[in-house]
Amino acid sequence: MDAICQHCYELIVGNAYRVTSKEEGITMLDIVVCSCCVMEARRLGLHAEEIVIGNKQDSAPHRGNRGSRLGI
Ligand SMILES: [Zn+2]
Repeated sequence: MDAICQHCYELIVGNAYRVTSKEEGITMLDIVVCSCCVMEARRLGLHAEEIVIGNKQDSAPHRGNRGSRLGI
């Protein structure tokens, strides 16, 4: 899955960052940006956190912990 920076509209290659800004508990800003734009966001004092996009192998199925149902 490709991600587009919601600030400069370039394709995000590498790390993506989620920039949020809240005022009095209300979310004023919630965008995904590239590593370039996150620097600008941080300079502005916005909250930024790295997010994982793309195809990491974290989709292991959640079956039971043990195969204790075998041998019926
Ligand atoms: Zn950008």
